[in-house]
Amino acid sequence: MFFKNKFLNKLAIVCAGGVFTLVSGCSDPTPVPTTASGKTMGTFYFVETSEPFAGGSEALQNLCEQEYSRISSLISTFDKNAELYKLDDNKSTDPIEISAGLTNIIKGCLKQSKRIDFAMDVTVGPLVNLWGFGKDKRLSKEPDEQAILQAKKLVGPDKFSLSTDNNGNNFITKALPEVRIDLATVGEGLGADAVAEVLNAKGVKNYLSSVAGASRSAGTNPQGKPWRIGIEDPSTPDHKVFQAVCPLGMAMSTAGSYRNYFKDEQSGRIYSHAIDPKTGRPVDHTTMSVTVIAPTAFETDALDTGLLVMGADRALEWAEREGVAVYTIEMKDGKAVGRYSSAFKPYLECRK
Ligand code: ADP
Ligand code: MG
Repeated sequence: MFFKNKFLNKLAIVCAGGVFTLVSGCSDPTPVPTTASGKTMGTFYFVETSEPFAGGSEALQNLCEQEYSRISSLISTFDKNAELYKLDDNKSTDPIEISAGLTNIIKGCLKQSKRIDFAMDVTVGPLVNLWGFGKDKRLSKEPDEQAILQAKKLVGPDKFSLSTDNNGNNFITKALPEVRIDLATVGEGLGADAVAEVLNAKGVKNYLSSVAGASRSAGTNPQGKPWRIGIEDPSTPDHKVFQAVCPLGMAMSTAGSYRNYFKDEQSGRIYSHAIDPKTGRPVDHTTMSVTVIAPTAFETDALDTGLLVMGADRALEWAEREGVAVYTIEMKDGKAVGRYSSAFKPYLECRK
């Protein structure tokens, strides 16, 4: 989630320094890395290059913030000037012209959605709002069935279409005026990738680029060892590391159902911000987090929320079938239990 207040994420950068959790064993002398960290659009970012970055921390920070602001100007649903904000506000069912940048993001999401049978669906916005996780206020009780049915009518892959005219201009056509596009779930991944791409173009070989729960890595850390990232323990509130992972030059992101939720005051039930587009309801199972490793943070971030919606059993079955690296954490008898697909194994062994 890129645009809302979120206290921390499912990741703790292990041995990277900066604002994230440090674990023991990080006392080797550090050969002048450059770091940049801070808050952007309601969440945290952390970027580190193993060698000195030209211009130092300030230059790295400027680069990051420029990239994040470029992405947010495309996909923010909180910033009135953002392209997506205006698109969501536009109630026309005629073709609406959209930029090539936004088109590519939506197409990229659709490609990942199809792989997991639309458990991640960019039209989920009306349900997200209804359940109090959007622009509107938090809820204190469940919305009524009628309202859920009403919002569900606006959700599904058939609720919009994309087209391109002879001049290469892109358009989106909504099936109903109230259809909205929600790209919040890929904001972090887009941010991590965008900074990584600029670093690649500048010839930086060793870096870690993270926005909240999404990271992209290259090369090694300042000690010349694989970058290590911690998946948080969902059973404790103190951001303890549950499992250390080495992304080995890949991207990684985690979707969690345990930090961003609301509690029904009467029943005491907890509702997660991951919404199942098929039921129209927040997921209600014991899977607390899903971590995905793939070449880009956009891909991992587009998949993690959907896999969380599917739950650990189905997510791991899918991952095994598709050869995707997935790690799940479930609560069993009050304890957090980790499971992973075969493709995840090398990232636990951390050997390069
Ligand atoms: P996490 O950090 O846990 O991955 P994100 O912030 O990346 O969470 O994504 C959660 C956000 O994604 C929600 O707040 C909502 O806006 C949106 N969302 C929730 N359920 C879905 C879904 N099934 N498909 C697409 N987007 C979703
Ligand atoms: Mg996500």
